[in-house]
Amino acid sequence: MTQSPAILWFRRDLRVADHPALTAAIDSGAPVLCLYIDHEFAGRPRGGASEWWLHHSLKSLESDLEKCGAKLHILRGNPEVLIPSIVQDIKAGAVHWSRRYDGDSIELDKAIKSTLKDDGIDVHSHPGSLLREPWEIKTGSDTYYKVFTPYWKACLKAGGIEDALPAPKSIDGWNGNLKGSLPIDDLGLLPTDPDWAGGFDGPWTPGSAGAHERLASFLDGHVQHYDEQRNVAANEDGTSGLSPHLAFGEISPREVWHETRNNSEVYDVYLSEIGWREFSYVLLYHNPKLGSENFKPAFDNFKWDNNKTKLRAWQRGQTGYPFVDAGMRQLWATGWMHNRVRMVAASFLIKHLLIDWRRGEEWFWDTLVDADPASNAASWQWVAGSGADASPYFRIFNPFTQGEKFDPEGEYVKRWVPELAKMPKKYIHRPWDAPTDVLVRAGVKLGGNYPKPIVEHKAAREEALGRYKASRE
Ligand SMILES: Cc1cc2nc3c(=O)[nH]c(=O)nc-3n(C[C@H](O)[C@H](O)[C@H](O)COP(=O)(O)OP(=O)(O)OC[C@H]3O[C@@H](n4cnc5c(N)ncnc54)[C@H](O)[C@@H]3O)c2cc1C
Repeated sequence: MTQSPAILWFRRDLRVADHPALTAAIDSGAPVLCLYIDHEFAGRPRGGASEWWLHHSLKSLESDLEKCGAKLHILRGNPEVLIPSIVQDIKAGAVHWSRRYDGDSIELDKAIKSTLKDDGIDVHSHPGSLLREPWEIKTGSDTYYKVFTPYWKACLKAGGIEDALPAPKSIDGWNGNLKGSLPIDDLGLLPTDPDWAGGFDGPWTPGSAGAHERLASFLDGHVQHYDEQRNVAANEDGTSGLSPHLAFGEISPREVWHETRNNSEVYDVYLSEIGWREFSYVLLYHNPKLGSENFKPAFDNFKWDNNKTKLRAWQRGQTGYPFVDAGMRQLWATGWMHNRVRMVAASFLIKHLLIDWRRGEEWFWDTLVDADPASNAASWQWVAGSGADASPYFRIFNPFTQGEKFDPEGEYVKRWVPELAKMPKKYIHRPWDAPTDVLVRAGVKLGGNYPKPIVEHKAAREEALGRYKASRE
């Protein structure tokens, strides 16, 4: 008698290697139906840039599965309805998935698990998206860590990251026709009118092969200089660029951990960044509203301006502060922004423009290819000062001295703000200080082809500090 099929439900784990859920389904000896359902993040629509990535990532997964002998079945709809119905149609005996940790997904998974269990189906949720489950590492008083450094020290002390699982050589795929199954192209994930993702193809190769190539090239030298180079905005190789691959689960953090340690002697600082990703998930798991509510409720009293014209100027890279504008334009053009510039651009929105961090989080959610429910929320709250282990509110990044420090030659600004390409480096981060003849020679007309600063730095800083003080009274 043939065994009842097992369903492997892919979500943000779009890979075949080091995939505990897939391995368990294969090891059960059952034919495996590989399934993707177009319904991510119940309650929050996916961002446009994530959809572009998802399209290509699904194509890559489809091809990787095909090589192993399994078809990727794609459905669209509510998983709470679809999964029990597929189980019935194909007489499946088990369902496997990798855990997710945001509040909406946890609720959805619990509901599906309960329905399936009531129907006598085996349901298994597996780890795989993190080095450690977010409930694993606890303080001496049995709570979760709210400060990164002791958290990461405790993780390192706990040791024992298991080896990554190999990719399966073959899969006994359930390859029949599934009712309602769609080709990836029919999901309509790519932008058409207008196609704003034209600039994404150059920097990115979504999928596991692209992820491993990127990691290999980073480990082939750049990791050695990560500590000095990771803040240099213009250096595209200064960081690994793995964030979208990790966000979509095309490579596992465990693979990154072991490949890095096996191929380099200098890895502590780099792996501690993977630690920030883990820590963000700890915060999200224990605070399901991390993306929408201040972690520190004292910030609920903060009086925001939320000026729509200023928000739009920030989104379009038209604030008149070149380092911020370069970052916002890099984001729009490529779906990614350098981490240092993310911090400065986010701080500028919150503290210079007095716009609620949640408006910034939403824009990043829509425009980042690496948009991630934990890292985005935790990082925005970190910059705002409202988060756990956050940068204090009164530490306000100066948008032009940050540029001078982390883009000293002005290369980054010249790349993304071509209007300023001929500005001498002395003035590139503060064109408003340039004498008229310098502006004329550089072809820059402030308030013409490049904006004047939309707020004055010193006055904006004073205002922000005043608002902060008032919110505490
Ligand atoms: C306002 C703001 C919003 C952000 N939103 C996101 C987001 O939605 N998704 C996202 O993945 N990262 C986010 N980050 C964190 C960080 O900017 C990116 O992870 C990093 O720039 C990705 O580039 P990389 O892969 O080259 O990083 P590397 O420097 O090579 O780091 C390796 C990996 O570590 C993780 N990592 C690095 N820094 C952080 C961090 N501060 N917090 C959490 N994980 C980190 C990422 O997975 C990254 O791929 C945000 C940061 C800020 C300041």
